[in-house]
Amino acid sequence: MKIYEAAALIKNKSISPSELACEIMGRINEREGDIKAYITLSENLSIPKEAVEGSPLWGIPIAVKDNICTKGVRTTAGSRMLENFVPDYDATVVERLKKCGAVITGKTNMDEFGMGSDSLCSAFHVTKNPHNTLYVPGGSSGGSAAAVKAGMALASLGTDTGGSIRQPAAFCGIYALKPTYSLISRHGLIAFASSLDCIGPMANCVKDLAIVTDAIAGGDSKDATSSTREKENYYANIKPQVKNIKIGLPKEFFENADDSVKKAVYTMAQKLEEMGAIVNECSCKSVKYATAAYYVISSAEASSNLARYDGVRFGYKSKEYKSFEELCVKSRSEALGNEVKKRIIFGTRVLSGENYNFYYNKANLARSLIRNELESLLGEFHVLLTPVCPAVVPKINEKKDSGKVCEKDRCTAAVSLADLPAISIPCGKDENGMPIGAQLIGNRFCEQLLFNIAAACEEGGLCDV
Ligand code: GLN
Repeated sequence: MKIYEAAALIKNKSISPSELACEIMGRINEREGDIKAYITLSENLSIPKEAVEGSPLWGIPIAVKDNICTKGVRTTAGSRMLENFVPDYDATVVERLKKCGAVITGKTNMDEFGMGSDSLCSAFHVTKNPHNTLYVPGGSSGGSAAAVKAGMALASLGTDTGGSIRQPAAFCGIYALKPTYSLISRHGLIAFASSLDCIGPMANCVKDLAIVTDAIAGGDSKDATSSTREKENYYANIKPQVKNIKIGLPKEFFENADDSVKKAVYTMAQKLEEMGAIVNECSCKSVKYATAAYYVISSAEASSNLARYDGVRFGYKSKEYKSFEELCVKSRSEALGNEVKKRIIFGTRVLSGENYNFYYNKANLARSLIRNELESLLGEFHVLLTPVCPAVVPKINEKKDSGKVCEKDRCTAAVSLADLPAISIPCGKDENGMPIGAQLIGNRFCEQLLFNIAAACEEGGLCDV
């Protein structure tokens, strides 16, 4: 069920919030044993005390990724390091959802600290793709995507540093928004890479994305990086419309993409043209640097952000130690997973001595190139249309080549490096019947236009796959 439909039924009293909560509990009992989207399930699905009536989210069950703090509810970031961490405050996004009357269903599984693309790097368990349980749900917000797809929440919050909202949405065949950097407060988000991290909604349709964005967007005095722009009213202002919209297809985003991915996204472009959009190919040469720049910058920032887990101030503490140094080394060795260790080591290395100039500064230079090139394309076109991921959904037990895995982040990481907003919508299926996602990239703070175009795609049947 979609949020806007459920909200209408709740409003005219055809169903009550508690009946909806029971329905969702039933779905969770039925599917969760197999899918394992959640790390922690909420004990109580009643409307929060602090809620004020009037929002379409009144009584709507929403899942929250487990790196977003929830007062009194364990928040692990998918790591043994935070296995027993119970925050004593809500992240701003959670506070805002609760104020609207949303019901938090639980905390969803994720790659440890957001590092990964398939949710297999969670310290807890593997989440399966509800379309076909032999396949991964994507990552790092794999639990948030799977919970929505399996009907175990009507929407969810994910986080995206280099693609972690958009890619799992694409792999599970749902809709998602990575907002403009700074549109949504990150107070209470467990940091991975601060110059890239964003929180955003994942849902079953474009209208639902807009409803959740309306609830959580807007400046926050607790997050100095949040934008103080006036709040928009996305849901009320959705106008499905593509006539005379100029859409660019940057050809480098399609290079080395799987044939079924290229075909699905080009077919969507062709249909958009038939609906009145002006579609043209264009070029964005610097995207070839996106993956390298993203991994250098995000790992450098992660090595600094994760230095706080030293066995003293936060999280897991090793049992036996003789010195502070030994406590720190043992705590980190015992409680962090291999992917996280690899990134900390790599991030520390690119920041050390001469490497700072050679790798870190160079990556920032590449970031500027990508940003400038995308900005100039968005001066020419209203939006850009690309694949979300150049590859099809992999199987859970498929052998992975880590270089190739990183390269799959190219299309989403480029957008993150440029701080731009992008929406992920379903556009086809691969030869195994698994979903393929298309990415619409807009100018900074042009979320409304993205919602309008995506809604036109949805209405026009371009996303019925
Ligand atoms: N897959 C990318 C990574 O492993 C993106 C992760 C993210 O956006 N959190 O870093």
